Amino acid sequence: MSDVAAHPKHFLSDKVSHFTESVIREMTRQAMLHGAINLAQGFPDFSAPGEIKKAAQEAIAADVNQYAITWGAKTLRNAIARQMNAWQGVPVDPETQVTVCCGSTEAMISTLLAVCNAGDEVVIFEPYYENYGPDSILSGAKPRFVKLRPPSTADGEWTFDEQELRAAFHKHTKAIIVNTPNNPTGKVFTRAELEIIRDLCVEFDVLAITDEIYEHILYDGTQHISIASLEGMQDRTITINGMSKTYSVTGWRVGWTIAPPRIADAIRKVHDFLTVGAPAPLQEAGASALSLPETYYRNLAEGYRKRRDRLIPALTEAGFKCFLPRGAYYVMTDISAFGFPDDLAFTKHLVSEIGVAAVPGSSFYRDPRDGARQVRFAFCKRDETLDEAAKRLMKLRPSDPAGRKMQGG
Ligand code: GLN
Repeated sequence: MSDVAAHPKHFLSDKVSHFTESVIREMTRQAMLHGAINLAQGFPDFSAPGEIKKAAQEAIAADVNQYAITWGAKTLRNAIARQMNAWQGVPVDPETQVTVCCGSTEAMISTLLAVCNAGDEVVIFEPYYENYGPDSILSGAKPRFVKLRPPSTADGEWTFDEQELRAAFHKHTKAIIVNTPNNPTGKVFTRAELEIIRDLCVEFDVLAITDEIYEHILYDGTQHISIASLEGMQDRTITINGMSKTYSVTGWRVGWTIAPPRIADAIRKVHDFLTVGAPAPLQEAGASALSLPETYYRNLAEGYRKRRDRLIPALTEAGFKCFLPRGAYYVMTDISAFGFPDDLAFTKHLVSEIGVAAVPGSSFYRDPRDGARQVRFAFCKRDETLDEAAKRLMKLRPSDPAGRKMQGG
């Protein structure tokens, strides 16, 4: 085989040639390679609800095997519109506003491709879910980052500076991406914070693209607020969500966007040319999932609260400083106590020598140095998995009384 890189034309797109591989997905491969416990990629290692698996089986048995309508099966779009109204008080027309996509990942890239032009800027809070950067670049836009600052106390909140956010908005700003509850920090944006964002969006005529995939995974009495529910935002918000996290089916790839009709129309075209449609029988199962009773969501949140409160004491005992998440199923930690040169050296040691995979903090920042002391753990796992991870992590414990064990990585 000839070396494509050595060819004078090198054949690669300029956009893609600057991308690095997804670190989250790479850590899953590393976990498999080393037989490590995977607390890196955020997918559950327990079963999805029986009712929705049955609904998927029945849909296949009933020969729902051909394309759904490109922007989504009517049953699912109706359920999405109904639930957005029930949960957030936002009226949605399923005929003109909802587009079902192959996961919220496709929903995000289809949205950005539908709204961005070359020279546009997209504001992103960092640390950020790693797809948002490449998504912006693929759509021709430039990401502009605004810092979320870690809490100074063990149970404090991640915050942003209002002036720093304002300084990121100007005439080329097309959109801001808001992910609440947030991956990787577990921050749940408050109404007051969302109102600051709303006011800037209105003042600078900017869209809000919100990733709300963890909307039902909330702790300590926090409340999820869709920015689309705030006055003045309905005509400038694209709400992204999906089945993956709420129904523990990350591999089904069913997500969606809710957008004002004119924007939905553009998203539908991009989505159609990219994928034609999301899996038809799984969309039918999605309609059943969205009809589960209220207790399902309460149990989901309570189950994750217990897992959070199982893993965090173990991490703390092993020597990590944990930033308490208020939502989603990740915990960001500070690894300073272990004395490694950086997060990459630490996670490499963790996966190969300790037998636990985690995500290096640098993959959530534009400048890797900003995440060099941070590592993210996912706790969407069975108790046995978390307990075995905890046992292995104890091998890390800084052993001298001063709490320092210098290691090379
Ligand atoms: N959202 C999950 C995470 O952050 C999984 C991402 C993915 O690999 N699609 O780990």
